[in-house]
Amino acid sequence: MNALSFDVEHWHEAALLQDSVTNPTDRIEDSLSRVLRILDDHGVTATFFVVGELAAEYPDLVARIRDGGHELGSHGHVHDSVSTFTPRTFRENLARSADAIEDASGVRPSGFRAPNFSISESVPWALTELAASDYAYDSSVFPMSTPMYGVSGGSQHPYEVRPDTPFEATLPLDLDPGTEQGLIEVPVAVAGRRMRVPVAGGFYARTLPVSVLAWGIRWLNERGLPATLYFHPWEFNPDVVTSVPRIDKRFVSFHGIDTLAEKLDRLLETFAFGTVADVLTNQSWPASHESSRDGDAPGHVNDSDERAARDTPHRQPTVRRPYADE
Ligand SMILES: [Zn+2]
Repeated sequence: MNALSFDVEHWHEAALLQDSVTNPTDRIEDSLSRVLRILDDHGVTATFFVVGELAAEYPDLVARIRDGGHELGSHGHVHDSVSTFTPRTFRENLARSADAIEDASGVRPSGFRAPNFSISESVPWALTELAASDYAYDSSVFPMSTPMYGVSGGSQHPYEVRPDTPFEATLPLDLDPGTEQGLIEVPVAVAGRRMRVPVAGGFYARTLPVSVLAWGIRWLNERGLPATLYFHPWEFNPDVVTSVPRIDKRFVSFHGIDTLAEKLDRLLETFAFGTVADVLTNQSWPASHESSRDGDAPGHVNDSDERAARDTPHRQPTVRRPYADE
């Protein structure tokens, strides 16, 4: 199973638009309705990472998401990058957004996604703060370097965060029920080993052909890994397109808006999707490494597997950092 997620914010809060768009028209209700209709048509549930301020302003929308059977997560209390916080103010921001979402829905979020994928080595304390909070998982790591964000060579599979080395995934998850688990990092979908291809969603999904997106999801699934996709409700609403921003910002912000719903339809017809929480509790994932084609997939590993790996030199890289040597 793969994870489908939506970052719920005002369209003009996107990083490239927030400085140039003044006096924006509110499109949140219309945009969200389009997305909920698509999911309803396919009978698919997804995770909605909601900005806390927006949840406080539109409790009815948050309740609608909940009533659709979807998972509610936090997208921060305000739509600011993590680098604008100190560890202390970030911790407050995590709690405030969870309070706002709980007030609106009665549900305390267990997942977090940072605005602008702004969790990377430049804020090494961010995952440590999350691990010390009530959140169970984070999905903010974009596991490749891009001009605006990303963790170069980052883990492509979910992993348990260790506070001293938060970006290093030494072992795949042990998902045995009842296992005491720390914060889980669920990186968004980036396919390919040496040459990484971002198929995660957003601008990439609007720009790449659907065949490339499908290839990327398949690439991950064939290695026993879930693909975690992200979109924004406004990306399904051509009414947000405005000529105000500079042309390059306009391209990145709006290109492909008119065809994204069709692409998502195709992906939902082709692959199994659910919430991030579903993926983390789905016992069919991860696939065992024995079943992987080229032996490089991270699989379910327990202590005896780890010992066996140490005793079997050729398997060692498989069990330790699956993609460490890229
Ligand atoms: Zn966002």
